[in-house]
Amino acid sequence: MAALRKILIVGGGTAGWLTANYLARTLNIAAQQSAQNIQMESIQIELVESADIGIIGVGEGTFPSIRGTLAAIGLDEARFLRGANATFKQGIKFANWARTPTASATSHYFHPFSLPSQRGDSPELLPYWLLGAAAPGAAFADAATMQKHVADASRAPKRRTDSEYQGRLNYAYHFDAGRFASLLAEHGRSLGVQHKIAHVEKVELDEQGAIARVITREAGALTADLYIDCTGMRGGLIGDALGSPFRSTRDTLFVDRAVAIQVPYPRADTPIPSYTISTAHEAGWTWDIGLQARRGIGYVYSSRHTDDSRAEQVLRQYIGPAAENLNARLLKFETGFRPEQWRKNCVAVGLSAGFLEPLESTGIGLIEIAAYLIAHLLPNDGDMARVAKLFNAQMTTRYERIIDFIKMHYCISQRRDSSFWIDNADAASTPESLQDKLAMWRCRPPHRLDFVTDLEMFMPASWQFVLYGMEFKTDLSGMRHAYPRVDAAQREFEMIRAVAPHAIADLPDHRALIEEICAHG
Ligand code: FAD
Repeated sequence: MAALRKILIVGGGTAGWLTANYLARTLNIAAQQSAQNIQMESIQIELVESADIGIIGVGEGTFPSIRGTLAAIGLDEARFLRGANATFKQGIKFANWARTPTASATSHYFHPFSLPSQRGDSPELLPYWLLGAAAPGAAFADAATMQKHVADASRAPKRRTDSEYQGRLNYAYHFDAGRFASLLAEHGRSLGVQHKIAHVEKVELDEQGAIARVITREAGALTADLYIDCTGMRGGLIGDALGSPFRSTRDTLFVDRAVAIQVPYPRADTPIPSYTISTAHEAGWTWDIGLQARRGIGYVYSSRHTDDSRAEQVLRQYIGPAAENLNARLLKFETGFRPEQWRKNCVAVGLSAGFLEPLESTGIGLIEIAAYLIAHLLPNDGDMARVAKLFNAQMTTRYERIIDFIKMHYCISQRRDSSFWIDNADAASTPESLQDKLAMWRCRPPHRLDFVTDLEMFMPASWQFVLYGMEFKTDLSGMRHAYPRVDAAQREFEMIRAVAPHAIADLPDHRALIEEICAHG
């Protein structure tokens, strides 16, 4: 570890502060040990952020991995819920994705965070669901876990104190991005992160092309052994200074703009859904996220398939009268990522590394993965190139796997009501890796062996919930003989159906749980 003494993080958004907290907490265990008279050097972590450039301020939906990250940095749930205006997220409810809605019919499905039930030696449920062993008409996610039933009943995923259902329902959070960054800043400073408000005006390179120093307006020249670029979409260090190319995915993931409105609740006790509501529209989709004091709602769309004023109209129609007199904010982005996120002595984390659109909330999850990976790779022999190679290979695979997962939501839709959906169904826009999988899954269901799960953000269950929520057809009729445990599967489906009402009776209302935790810790 002798080679690394100081890390400089440029950027104070979710990426900068999550990374700073994670590295301060995990790398500086050495410093805590030295307090116990074990002589080890700690790593100095400094974060600079510009007073002129605000954080992006969106990114309110997370993935369950966030719970492990908050635990790792030592931020307890009550403080997090209070400080970030946060709520629980048990999954995502997708409306009108599978089919074009009509005046009399809409389509919905749920992507829960809990896995399909599998107790003891009970069989894997999916093939039996495909063969009709569950209750008629039940979607796979609804038959295989009780999570949708609990979330639909406005119940929280747990109680504050222990209960029979504790730990059985997986969850993430929704939060206010601005407040979360402030909370992380306060926590990071308490972990020893040195914080400076300083605008980086220039990045100077050494003769090997690595960063020699950054020149800031307020604090002069700053140097470090490793620079972490968290400057958001501008990628001031990794892109502008080091020239690491950006690989656009706009031909696969079409959306490139969002218009967003923050909508206060009409009453202080308005129920809060414990899931994101994602509704498909003519040229994209809306997110609808319930925080403690307001909803965050945005329409993500493709500027090649609609224009900004029509997009705002679609958003306002979705919200209804509550949107009157509220300002809308426009955000522009390009989907894609840098295959070389670590170049020389600089690694990009967050939007500077890439962004694959908000669907399924992968942005913050990728920040978490990058921070774990940096912390894991840093104790090294000083050879940054070797570490960079592994980091880049792993992150590229992760991005590619996520691209397939996100594209799947669009390309298997039966919607053909606009050029956006027609273009999404065009095989030319679908990566070959996804086309191959979908072709195989026409005659057999997805299996965990189809995935290298260490490199996937989404476990096989997520692929299954989305695939069959989208009404994808897998014909297993010729394979019936391979699934002889129909009785055992039926018992499992029956158990899930029977237990759901008990869980609903036992678990508290979502808003009530948040208020209880915020009041009592
Ligand atoms: P930013 O928040 O842009 O922060 C950049 C920081 O860099 C700022 O502090 C700025 O001051 C600093 N900076 C820039 N230039 C300089 C300079 N020259 N000198 C000093 N400091 C500088 N992710 C999810 O996980 N879930 C979601 O639901 C989700 N929804 C999204 C919706 C939209 C429309 C968009 C666009 C993104 C969404 N994301 C989502 C992604 C998420 O917002 C980001 O991954 C996350 O906020 C991290 O942003 P960041 O910290 O990389 O960048």
